[in-house]
Amino acid sequence: MIRFEQVGKVYPDGTTAVRDLSFEVAEGELVTLVGPSGCGKTTTMMMVNRLIEPTAGRVLVAGRDVRGADPVLLRRGIGYVVQQGGLFPHRTVLDNTATVPALIGWKRARARARAAELLDLVGLDPAVYGPRYPAQLSGGQRQRVGVARALAADPPVLLMDEPFGAVDPVVRERLQNEFLRLQATVRKTVLLVTHDIEEAVRMGDRIAVYGEGRIEQYDTPAVVLGAP
Ligand code: ADP
Ligand code: ADP
Repeated sequence: MIRFEQVGKVYPDGTTAVRDLSFEVAEGELVTLVGPSGCGKTTTMMMVNRLIEPTAGRVLVAGRDVRGADPVLLRRGIGYVVQQGGLFPHRTVLDNTATVPALIGWKRARARARAAELLDLVGLDPAVYGPRYPAQLSGGQRQRVGVARALAADPPVLLMDEPFGAVDPVVRERLQNEFLRLQATVRKTVLLVTHDIEEAVRMGDRIAVYGEGRIEQYDTPAVVLGAP
């Protein structure tokens, strides 16, 4: 579903963020990208939805080079979850969740019905939380809304950048488990960035272990843990 072919990125200031990335993510697979800060995980992820353009190699989504794709159409098929949910502060939770369906032209009533369904799916009662503003939610709840919003247009691919990063360990574990249960039903192709090896192991069908600017190991959690 997602394929990197000898991909490199050198930023205009000369910083080499990543080099020679070659890996593949199968349909319905959840791959975690793990490594210390600054090793190139976010750069890798943002080349999938073309928020960043590679300077070498190519990135394919569903068999097509993303460089040939219309960025708007491309991003319609790729949900994006960032830390704290990345919510619009001046819109209610329901309106935040209905943003994408509304953008792609769904009628207001249908977009809002879909948003309510998704809030339910991530464990937030839409009648209670739908009318609230993001500042009236806990960190964990904001992150759940971020996931609901990313799933709104039912994209086949989901990119998650430290989605469970900004909450305490107990809440984090709950969110991780909730997401795994959700993923078992929706089966998205997921790239998940984390600097937490435990999270990478717990969540990933496969793990890409980053060293500086490159992937040092790409394998199942069992193999990664068993490695010397
Ligand atoms: P990670 O997500 O693993 O923390 P990043 O992909 O954000 O790593 O960054 C990889 C490297 O690229 C770092 O050295 C970072 O400082 C550098 N970098 C990231 N964005 C830019 C940019 N816009 N311009 C120059 N260098 C950048
Ligand atoms: P979670 O486990 O999801 O992170 P918390 O334990 O942090 O939830 O929050 C518990 C409850 O407190 C939640 O129902 C949430 O709605 C409420 N809450 C948290 N922060 C705020 C706030 N700033 N304003 C109103 N309610 C809040």
